[in-house]
Amino acid sequence: MKGAGMIRKPFLGLTRQKLDATPLPKGAPPVRQAPVCGTAVLFVPRRFEGAGTCSVKAGDPVRLGQKVGVYSTGEYVISPVAGVVQKIEAHTGAAGEAMTAITFEGQTAGEAEKLFAKPGLGAALECLENAAGGLSLKAFSNPDKPINTVIIIGMDQDLLVTARQQVVRDKAKSISKGVKALKEMVNPGRMVFAVPPALAHEAVETGCEVARIDTAYPKALPALVLAKLGLTVPTGSSPGDSEVAVLSAEAVATLGEACETGAVPMEKYVTVIGKDGASKNIAARVGMPLGAVLAAAGVTAGDGDRVVLGGPLRGTATYSLDLPVEPDTDAILVQDKAAVEGVSDYPCLNCGECVAVCPARVPVNMLIRYLENRLYEDAAKMYDLHSCVECGLCSYVCVAQIPVFQYIMLAKRELARTGAEE
Ligand code: SF4
Ligand code: SF4
Repeated sequence: MKGAGMIRKPFLGLTRQKLDATPLPKGAPPVRQAPVCGTAVLFVPRRFEGAGTCSVKAGDPVRLGQKVGVYSTGEYVISPVAGVVQKIEAHTGAAGEAMTAITFEGQTAGEAEKLFAKPGLGAALECLENAAGGLSLKAFSNPDKPINTVIIIGMDQDLLVTARQQVVRDKAKSISKGVKALKEMVNPGRMVFAVPPALAHEAVETGCEVARIDTAYPKALPALVLAKLGLTVPTGSSPGDSEVAVLSAEAVATLGEACETGAVPMEKYVTVIGKDGASKNIAARVGMPLGAVLAAAGVTAGDGDRVVLGGPLRGTATYSLDLPVEPDTDAILVQDKAAVEGVSDYPCLNCGECVAVCPARVPVNMLIRYLENRLYEDAAKMYDLHSCVECGLCSYVCVAQIPVFQYIMLAKRELARTGAEE
């Protein structure tokens, strides 16, 4: 497989005129269950400090759904298998982040621990952070910044991806339970469910205010949904940093399932997109190797093919099929080696295509000059780096094939990292 790089215009024959979100077909087959796989890897976003700082060590037995404490700072993972801890080691994330990886080996069958037997915000923080769907309720625990609006996004965040729409269609009852639990736990004044018009019926059933969102890409991205609702988020902060919390429909379904069963849900929907652009939704456990999910979808990735976590516009190329499905992995895309193009080193032609297509009106043609020279703070101050809503369209239209989106994401991460260190 090829590693770093980006998706190029010729991929799947996408054209600029045809950028509508991919709808979930009405007669779509039921989600296929990925077969049981005994290995699971979970990441903790913290530099490895030695195996001795964890509540388990290699060779220790674990129960299905057991909470495994990592470091004294309160981080934890939930074991997706009943078996043993195989190893605990350092891992480097896709953007160079220092992390800790815990590998489990065992069976996924059997009854899971009931860690969430008494639902409540405290219990959710103690066991549901990073359950399937990337659920996180940390934003609700700051008394200085109460959340008054919850936006649930029931739309997919990239082209060709339908996993989230499938969640809305298949798990409407769990989402309703999750909505009820949120009302009881945190009582936000307003709850809005953003869905494509075709799923409005399911959304109405949850009791939320329903926002029917245009399916034109990228209108389903959180910042644009908020803008449509007349809600603003200060530049430079994410929707989750304000009085508005944004949750995926799958995260809310996870909360509903946890309330019903008492266990921590670890199974999520993932769209697998093959080399021909055809896609299938697979139910896979968090921690499962990507290769096992591709196998369940009948998709193969050979030498030289590119495997991308996410969709064609916003996804990130990955280097190993042994890497796991993460709580917020919505899609895996395989691109044939013949369709993979390298990153160009052509200079910007100042054609203005990226500026014309940018939904946030970022002066991308100027921004890219600063980003290429790593002048990230100037890029943020002078050329609206933080107004970017991360749609990837600038890369998609760039005639010089500059990886503009990757430059933007790198700059945002670097600024966040240096800001956190200060
Ligand atoms: S990714 Fe590019 S096109 Fe999209 S909002 Fe950011 S700067 Fe604009
Ligand atoms: S589309 Fe590419 S070449 Fe054209 S102005 Fe933007 S960055 Fe420069």
